[in-house]
Parts: sequence; structure tokens; C-alpha cells
Amino acid sequence: MSDDITSIRNAIRDIPDFPKPGIIFKDIMPLLSNGPLFGKTIDLIAERYRGQKIDTVLGIESRGFIFGSALAYKLGAGFSVVRKPGKLPYDTHSASYELEYGKDTLEIHVDAVAPNSRVVIADDLIATGGTAAATAELVSKLGATVVECAFVIELSFLNGRAKLVPHKVFSVLQYDSE
Ligand code: AMP
Repeated sequence: MSDDITSIRNAIRDIPDFPKPGIIFKDIMPLLSNGPLFGKTIDLIAERYRGQKIDTVLGIESRGFIFGSALAYKLGAGFSVVRKPGKLPYDTHSASYELEYGKDTLEIHVDAVAPNSRVVIADDLIATGGTAAATAELVSKLGATVVECAFVIELSFLNGRAKLVPHKVFSVLQYDSE
């Protein structure tokens, strides 16, 4: 494993029993507050999409906004969002999904991504994959292509990738167990 990946991994803080008992929350705040490491994380993700003609990075509320907007800037792409219900002001489509801890719905503006455009979906973490799968469904509904779903953290033992088939998944860090 490269030194950069090790440093990024070491900057993720485990918070046991948050937001409820039994969940080990992966806290990315120490990573974000470290300028060189935050930049390195974005560079590692951006490398994958250089020259791939990405039109839009789509960030998932809320930590996906942080990585997604930085990634969009780096790629020279646009940035759009999927949000929790009731937050978006314009016409929306919605999709429901299951979380590792609960159930929820996501909304997207009907013009967030253009038909036939190339989209990278970004979030901090993939657990069961439900959130990203619902997001991919919304992108497809708008007639755009999901080039890949990109995460900083993948909880591999929850096999979220399976829920995203046939879409491609990239993660900077993989955790094989809690
Ligand atoms: P899932 O739909 O199960 O893949 O859940 C992914 C979403 O829930 C992401 O937006 C994450 O930010 C959040 N999430 C789920 N599990 C965790 C965890 N253990 N630590 C931090 N965030 C989590």
C-alpha cells in the first residue's frame, strides 16, 4: 500500500455507536482538516477520470458535496447534487433507498444532469450501496450515463458493489471488516 493511502487511512477516525448502537461511524473530518491529505485524496480520485470527458460530478448529501465539488473543480466538470426530500427548490425526481441505519428518499433537480451526459457519482462512503444505487437510478431516469461511482471509503464487507451492478465502483480505501 502506498504511503499516501496509508496516511489517508490513518486520518479516518472510527466513532463507535454513532449515530446509534452497533454502527462504527467513519469520521472523515480529520482527513478534511489536513490540507495536503485532502488534496491528495481528491487527486487520487481525479486521476481515474482524467481525459474521460466527465460532464458532471453528482454529489450525494451531505459529505458527497465536499468531495464531489472538489473533484468537479479538479476535472473542470460541473457539479450537481442529490438531496434529502424538501431541500431542492425546482422540479425534482425522487428515489427511495435503504441506509445501513434506516430508510430515506433522495431528490434530484430534473435538469441536474443533461441527457446523454457523462456523470461521476461521488460520496464519502459506500456501505450497503442503497444510497448510491438510488442516485444511479435518478441519473439513468434523466437519460445520462453513470461513468463510475467514486467513494473515499468502501465498507467491502457489506458488499455495496453488488447493489450497484452494472455500474462501476471506485474507492480509495477498503475495509474488509468493522
Ligand atoms: P449506504 O446506502 O448503506 O451505502 O450508506 C451510505 C451513506 O450513509 C453515505 O452517504 C455515508 O455517508 C453514510 N454512512 C453509512 N454508513 C456509514 C458509516 N459507517 N460511517 C459513516 N457514514 C456512513
